[in-house]
Amino acid sequence: MQIPVIREALAALRIPIIGVTAHEADDVIGTLATLATMPVDIVTGDRDLFQLVDDARSVRVIYTARGMSNLEIVTDQTVVAKYGVLPSQYADFATLRGDASDGLPGVAGVGDKTAATLVQAHGDLAGIRAAAETGEGMSASVRNKMITASVYLDVAPTVVKVATALDIVPPADAIRALDPAEQDAATALAEQWNLGGSMERAIAALTK
Ligand code: MN
Ligand code: MN
Repeated sequence: MQIPVIREALAALRIPIIGVTAHEADDVIGTLATLATMPVDIVTGDRDLFQLVDDARSVRVIYTARGMSNLEIVTDQTVVAKYGVLPSQYADFATLRGDASDGLPGVAGVGDKTAATLVQAHGDLAGIRAAAETGEGMSASVRNKMITASVYLDVAPTVVKVATALDIVPPADAIRALDPAEQDAATALAEQWNLGGSMERAIAALTK
């Protein structure tokens, strides 16, 4: 029941709301970042979106997981330094390693290190699975883990990969400063719902 209030607050701040039926916000963000012709900063605490980072297109993640006073700028180099894989390989890496915060189990017995080594050696998940088929360039132990996880590996990538080609028209209006009447309306709404400091900060930011 908070959702209508959130929508009302965003409307009062003149911040566009974009959603697509049967898709996560991640997919909308992925599509907008891909359509963009200007530099993009994706502000999120969700590691999944590291797969969208692309220095060549000036797409970065501003990672909020350690708090708003401790933001981390994530570029190609950051992803490589953290995980040993490129942003374009991050989804396959995450599929292998799993992600408890998303209820993604990963391949049993494969952690960060093995996942990175496999992606480095075989390029992507398809390459890893092909090697598991033949056994070439893969230890018997890892091969066994991959084959045991084959049902998981058939479905997990569709969950982990962010959609980048949804049918979305980017909003025509950029976020802009509120005029005095809009400020008053936003303040009245904040009081009506007792929205507190976050709404006050948003109004202040849009008043400068
Ligand atoms: Mn996630
Ligand atoms: Mn996500």
